[in-house]
Amino acid sequence: MSSQQQNLLQQSYYHQDHQGQAIELPVGKVICIGQNYLDHIQEMNSKTAPDALFFMKPSTALVPLAPSFCIPATRGAVHNETELAVLIKAPLKKVAPEAVASAVWGYSLALDLTLRDVQGQLKQLGRPWEIAKAFDGSCPIAGFVPQHLIADPQALKFSLQVNNEYRQQGNTELMIRSVYQMISEMSQHFTLMPGDIVLTGTPAGVGPLQGNDQLLLTLAPWLQIDSQVRLEN
Ligand code: ZN
Repeated sequence: MSSQQQNLLQQSYYHQDHQGQAIELPVGKVICIGQNYLDHIQEMNSKTAPDALFFMKPSTALVPLAPSFCIPATRGAVHNETELAVLIKAPLKKVAPEAVASAVWGYSLALDLTLRDVQGQLKQLGRPWEIAKAFDGSCPIAGFVPQHLIADPQALKFSLQVNNEYRQQGNTELMIRSVYQMISEMSQHFTLMPGDIVLTGTPAGVGPLQGNDQLLLTLAPWLQIDSQVRLEN
């Protein structure tokens, strides 16, 4: 095996809790929902449908959010989408919303990085979004807060500041589909396995990230994460 192949086998990402302790779960897939906050649907002028919009990122999308992460330098605009993330600890297949809570390890924040120009071109062609949404490093993610500390996932406030200015402020109370509802619906299509992650949609305020941007992400009162954007070379 070449040294490059050996480097690739050394996973840079593993699940951690909010205090930096490793979590004993494998690193799985990331299932995402689009169009889950009205203000983001409006800012994108998106066409909506009654059925939920789901898409996936592979495990190779996951990277630590802090102290820095890389974005592609030559693929057009790379947008921030700040989202509540859910870590799954037990299998879920075709379950009701009431069955979801007992399968949740905890909650964190992630960026659903999006190559917005590439996505726009794909949408025009009617093609799938993978290369705009599922590229290597497209899901920087923080440590998870254990579920027992969070009584109600629909009462969480989170935010993103870029260079000391608020860009996104989210409140999970405003989700169109609740965490348990969307995971129930996802499980009708895709079996969720221990170590999988669910991204729950972005509120308004998406916009282009630049190299050297200083980010501050907060999930009150548990997470306050400083990070820096680096351009891939
Ligand atoms: Zn998103």
